[in-house]
Amino acid sequence: MSNLRLRLLSYVIMAYMLMAFAWWSMLLFTKNNDAFHAKRDLLKIGMIAEGRVRSNTEFEQTIDYLELARKYKRQEYMIFGEAMVFVLTLLAGLWFINQGYQREVRANNQRRNFLLSITHELKSPIASIRLVLETILKRELPRDKTNQLSTSALRENERLHELVENLLLSAKLETAYLPHFEEMDLANLLEDLLAKLADRHPEASIALEKPDDFPLLKMDKQGILSMATNLLENAIKYADGRPEVEVQLSKTSKHVTLSFADKGIGIPDKEKKRVFEKFYRIGSEETRQTKGTGLGLFIVQQVVKAHNGQIQVLDNQPKGTIFKITIPT
Ligand code: ADP
Repeated sequence: MSNLRLRLLSYVIMAYMLMAFAWWSMLLFTKNNDAFHAKRDLLKIGMIAEGRVRSNTEFEQTIDYLELARKYKRQEYMIFGEAMVFVLTLLAGLWFINQGYQREVRANNQRRNFLLSITHELKSPIASIRLVLETILKRELPRDKTNQLSTSALRENERLHELVENLLLSAKLETAYLPHFEEMDLANLLEDLLAKLADRHPEASIALEKPDDFPLLKMDKQGILSMATNLLENAIKYADGRPEVEVQLSKTSKHVTLSFADKGIGIPDKEKKRVFEKFYRIGSEETRQTKGTGLGLFIVQQVVKAHNGQIQVLDNQPKGTIFKITIPT
């Protein structure tokens, strides 16, 4: 049964239950009222026969009558209280069903977006590598042309490799990710990565600010590399014009702090939390211009978590985004 039908069915059942309960409550009220009146009349007749009271006003002041009326009122409150608890429980149930449904719809949209984007991400490098190989095979080309084509094919291949790595890592992160902590030179890793990215994106300006002397730290090298690559690729991808990225590395006695600041399109406040969800991308796949799978920031967050660290998304000034990561050492 589809989700929508299930939701409709549950609403119908709840509405029926509400109406049935309202009817039962009314009935109970009326019966309670009838029982009270019958008991009151019986009591009054008995008292009059015994000559204990002479008028209605006198009867309504007797202890027996007051006790009966109090008992009746208590029952009325009880029925009302039960009805309220029932209605509130039902409403809470309705709210939970709705939340679950919204979550399901979101997850479905994200899965659909992911399939669309991953197909696109895989298709374009495969097509360009194929084109390069066909050109090299078909034609006798000068050496420098072959070199140029091979370099571009290699780049596309690298993109494919990174994509597959991201897919594997994100699958592992949820089930079998065992970070392998080893002494590593974080400053050096960043320098190498920045050089590689500068080569891949010659139009971008990427700067690194770090202390002269940076100690070796015990970290999961593969995870950290993937984290930094994803953040830097994003900073370049979501630039507004020429990409400008600043990476800052610093250390105190207890923490190492890494920040990636760009001057790009920025992330609206309401999206700042959601961008870390698996497959989540801002906007819709039909209108989006940039390539991606929505896995990058999910991986980043999981790697930070594996290091017991924290990640913050801040607005850069005058525009852009800063991802600030703090990891205890
Ligand atoms: P994607 O493969 O779409 O880049 P990510 O998980 O890396 O997936 O990022 C999720 C979304 O967060 C992106 O689709 C983008 O909308 C937004 N985003 C990530 N980094 C930045 C950034 N530096 N500037 C602006 N938006 C960003």
